[in-house]
Amino acid sequence: MPEPSTSQADQLLFPQWLLTLDTQAPDQGLEPLEGQAVVLAGSQILDILPQTQARVAYPHLQPQILDQQLLLPGLHNLHGHAGMTLFRGMADDLPLMTWLEEHIWPAEGQHVSEAFVRDGTRLAIAEMLLNGTSCFSDMYFFPEVVAEVAEELGIRALICAPIIDFPNPWSANPDEALDKTRQLHQQLQDKPLIHLAFGPHAPYTVGDETLNKIRELNQKLGLKVQMHVHETAFEVEDAENHQGKRPLARLDELGLLDSNFQAVHLTQATAEEIQLLAQRGVQVIHCPQSNLKLASGFCPVEALRQAGVSLCLGTDGAASNNDLDLWAEMQTAALLAKAVHQDAAALPATAALQLATVEGGKALAQEAYTGQLRRGFAADLCSLKLDTPDCWPLHQISSQLVYGRMGDKVHHVWVTGQQRVTAGQLQGMDLKTLQDQAASWRQRLQDSFQSQDAKA
Ligand SMILES: [Zn+2]
Repeated sequence: MPEPSTSQADQLLFPQWLLTLDTQAPDQGLEPLEGQAVVLAGSQILDILPQTQARVAYPHLQPQILDQQLLLPGLHNLHGHAGMTLFRGMADDLPLMTWLEEHIWPAEGQHVSEAFVRDGTRLAIAEMLLNGTSCFSDMYFFPEVVAEVAEELGIRALICAPIIDFPNPWSANPDEALDKTRQLHQQLQDKPLIHLAFGPHAPYTVGDETLNKIRELNQKLGLKVQMHVHETAFEVEDAENHQGKRPLARLDELGLLDSNFQAVHLTQATAEEIQLLAQRGVQVIHCPQSNLKLASGFCPVEALRQAGVSLCLGTDGAASNNDLDLWAEMQTAALLAKAVHQDAAALPATAALQLATVEGGKALAQEAYTGQLRRGFAADLCSLKLDTPDCWPLHQISSQLVYGRMGDKVHHVWVTGQQRVTAGQLQGMDLKTLQDQAASWRQRLQDSFQSQDAKA
């Protein structure tokens, strides 16, 4: 992206505190700054300088005073299934395979359509924008609909086209899914907010033939490849029993593990596998709340971090979480890492914050341009109002952000310089309509389960 020029400056933000997360700053942008201004020019950050100097340099701009607010990069939710928000709370307290085979897959078979995905994705985006998420990743059916809704609502997205060997609502077979992915790649060329990725579902639902085709196709396209990998011990044991090797070893033999590959969950990893991921530059997407809720296992976050593996965070779908709140995810990640590694210093608050911002930016593009507040980076920001008793006294902002309750403190959110949330209110989306749509889907889902029960 060409850097903006001073004459293009169009917004001046004066926060009380600023956390840039700028990896080029001496402290990696983790120390809150006071009295600083952020200057935006269209969709980018033009400058960060003292407020006194900003008033002189940009006299034509009226500053937006963010009183008692902390300004920081918008959060990145790198794994989810936005359409599944309509399944929120539908089948809780069940293990992964029972949950999938007896509840989620039958419900998807009966209900998932373009309309379902459109309404579920709108609901998910509303929730994510309201809690400060400026970028999300999605792996679900009808990715072209998800891309359209994300663009319309003005949120950045990494859309992982779902590739599965068996027939599903989007594709009759994997070749059709790959054709559609290729077409989508063409269609999304001029959509700066939308990035496309391959989304092969999991090693147990996608065979070698399809994975080879993805690798070959991706030699030309150079997209990210996101896949659920080593989600449970059962998945790994089953592969060892039936294929004689662990899924990661198989993916490596197929030549898929490289810096474009994103392994979601990874609750199972040997020391050798951790070294392999580091060598290949694979990124791991940690979804701690989903792993806890489905009793899937524990991702060895601290061991991965120590080995130099890039990690970022995802909520997974609302059906296995049940919210899309990255603040809560950071908190869970930091607390869980301490329990798993029996070390209170594991995944400190500053590192948890980086997973949801800086590292998320790396997951979106090889040359990151989001997740940090820095000249030339995207103007994707959020502000939190720290004016309630649970924030006082404010000794350490990063601790407060990770160990405090934060989702309800999000005040403003900008994506590409456009304000999408103003004083806690969504712009351009009507909550009553969203609520009515959700209630209507709830009724349809309940009715279908009751008629199934009656037949049984
Ligand atoms: Zn998932």
